[in-house]
Amino acid sequence: MAARFVWWERLDPDERSRLEGLVGTFVASKHWEGVSGFEVTDEVKVVVAVHACMLILELDPAAYRRIGSIVVYRRPVVSRALRSYGGGIVSDSPMPIHGETRAGGPVVITWSAASAESRRPDLGRNVVYHEFAHQLDLVDGAADGTPPLRDPALRERWGGVIDSVYERLLAHGDPLLGSYAATNRGELFAVATERLFTRPADLEAAHPDLYLVLAAFYRQDPARRVAGTAG
Ligand SMILES: [Zn+2]
Repeated sequence: MAARFVWWERLDPDERSRLEGLVGTFVASKHWEGVSGFEVTDEVKVVVAVHACMLILELDPAAYRRIGSIVVYRRPVVSRALRSYGGGIVSDSPMPIHGETRAGGPVVITWSAASAESRRPDLGRNVVYHEFAHQLDLVDGAADGTPPLRDPALRERWGGVIDSVYERLLAHGDPLLGSYAATNRGELFAVATERLFTRPADLEAAHPDLYLVLAAFYRQDPARRVAGTAG
């Protein structure tokens, strides 16, 4: 597990056992479908499930209840759909799609990306974190970058922090978040979640307010987990 999931060695025994329980339920309760003959092995299921469930380690697992199917492609699908990056920038150049999420629909994952990213967390990307962050965002019906927030203090802070990061991103770009995060606030939330769980210290240094609201939402402090196990 440790070779495919960087957080495993940084979790305490209680967290590991809760995560194992979540993964077991997730693997058993979802319908898994491989596209074009791709075989969804136990390894594929566990790598997808453990990253998906890491996001809800401290949240209500009911957040994933409405996800019926996980559809797995071997390689990226190339899309020529028009994409708007904000600031009037629109592109239709071919772009490989590594994942896709729809409300009530399946979560689509490309195994070549999920597999490579699980071995190389330092890449700072992870398609599974990305797509399942969208699912958490969609729990209240809109992928608008604001998942359901139970804590009133967090609810109060959230919009202002997301708006200010988003406005700066549109105006100046951001080397850590990248241009795709500027697509809309929903993509900003999904990309920021990827960075939170792959490059937490960098996210905290570059965007301390964003780090704080994300850590409060997930009820996890990944930068402290890394610091706690360093050396
Ligand atoms: Zn997305």
